[in-house]
Amino acid sequence: MTEYKTLKDLGDLHGKVAMLRADLNVPMDENFHVTNTARIDRTVPTIKTLMDKGAKVVVISHFGRPEGKGDMKNSLSHVAPELQKSLGKTVVFVDDCIGSKVADAVKNMKADEVLLLENLRFYDEEKKGDAAFAKELVKPADVYVSDAFSTAHRAHASMVAAAKERPAAFGLLMEEEVNALSKGLNNPDRPLMAIVGGSKVSTKLDLLNNLVKKVNKLVISGGMAHTFMKASGVDTVNESNSLVQMDMIDTAKEIMKTAQANNCEIILPVDVVVAKEFKPMAEHKTVDLAHIPAEGWSLLDVGEKTIAAINAKLAECKTLVWNGPLGVFEMKPFDNATNKVAAKAAELTAAGKLTSVAGGGDTVSALANAGVENKFSYISTAGGAFLEWMEGKELPGVVVLKK
Ligand code: AMP
Repeated sequence: MTEYKTLKDLGDLHGKVAMLRADLNVPMDENFHVTNTARIDRTVPTIKTLMDKGAKVVVISHFGRPEGKGDMKNSLSHVAPELQKSLGKTVVFVDDCIGSKVADAVKNMKADEVLLLENLRFYDEEKKGDAAFAKELVKPADVYVSDAFSTAHRAHASMVAAAKERPAAFGLLMEEEVNALSKGLNNPDRPLMAIVGGSKVSTKLDLLNNLVKKVNKLVISGGMAHTFMKASGVDTVNESNSLVQMDMIDTAKEIMKTAQANNCEIILPVDVVVAKEFKPMAEHKTVDLAHIPAEGWSLLDVGEKTIAAINAKLAECKTLVWNGPLGVFEMKPFDNATNKVAAKAAELTAAGKLTSVAGGGDTVSALANAGVENKFSYISTAGGAFLEWMEGKELPGVVVLKK
């Protein structure tokens, strides 16, 4: 990690105040109980390291989509007990993120305590990237550290302007994310395979256009494969049995042309699972492309021949990046292809033959459903930021921490 500033670059932190921009935007139930603590747990090593280096740590984050100040539903006070539990140290909550209350709280901090400030998005200036707000925010701090990779695609005040105000560095989680993702796409061992699934082509155009220029093999599956199948002459796929987007056919053809020019092999389904209804355990059968029923059945997964083909190609690869399920994984048995390919990737990873990186919204749930969430080389905590990174875009919250 020579390209970016890391904790080492901040030097000795004894007696200094370190402001840590974390992403504590965790899921919560209606009683304000945190239902998944992954984002909290993964930033704790950074807090501990900063404390070990002698710093007083002040944690800042956004939470939800608040409607202005005082929207208690979106108060970070609900997260403080979980942070305290995960950290094993007293967490003092301050009900503002700027101003005299914060200054006093920092002054009165005891050794071994951590401060958590109120939701940054209680101020509109946060989302606007306002430089004056960022200046106010970092006032009590000597150094700035960011662990919020999952917000790095947003040029918000606490992500970019604040980082310019103080000596700044990646936290350990951010360092881990950027390292893993760079190994996946920027500097991968080849052959490199990408798997892109999910529902619609139209939402993943930038992603596909970037990938065909970078990867050696591109698996297109899920609902979005239907448009590519139609574009490559599979006439049995139609709008009544699948998610074909007729207005995207020419775009799909263009993407396939670019792939060919870049020696990227596109792998499309050769058989599919069709179901009578869109519901779990619906009546279903596996058919070759020539035998897709014209009406009354929907394509909800890919079949065993396709799974075998993907897994055989995967075994030839050294790196995999994955976004999007291969079928409707939320309903059994249409999670079959996703599960079997995930299991193969996990097996190759365990054998030391494959670096496997995955991320983006539904992919994390799909891989958890397949039981492999701890068996990939890296599963990103980020949704939108992971997608934008796969699209080849620069993430402002990462770029600002370049050396
Ligand atoms: P995305 O958010 O674009 O990654 O799409 C994820 C969604 O795609 C999941 O909810 C899947 O159920 C859905 N999906 C995957 N394959 C299909 C399919 N063949 N037909 C309909 N939806 C699908």
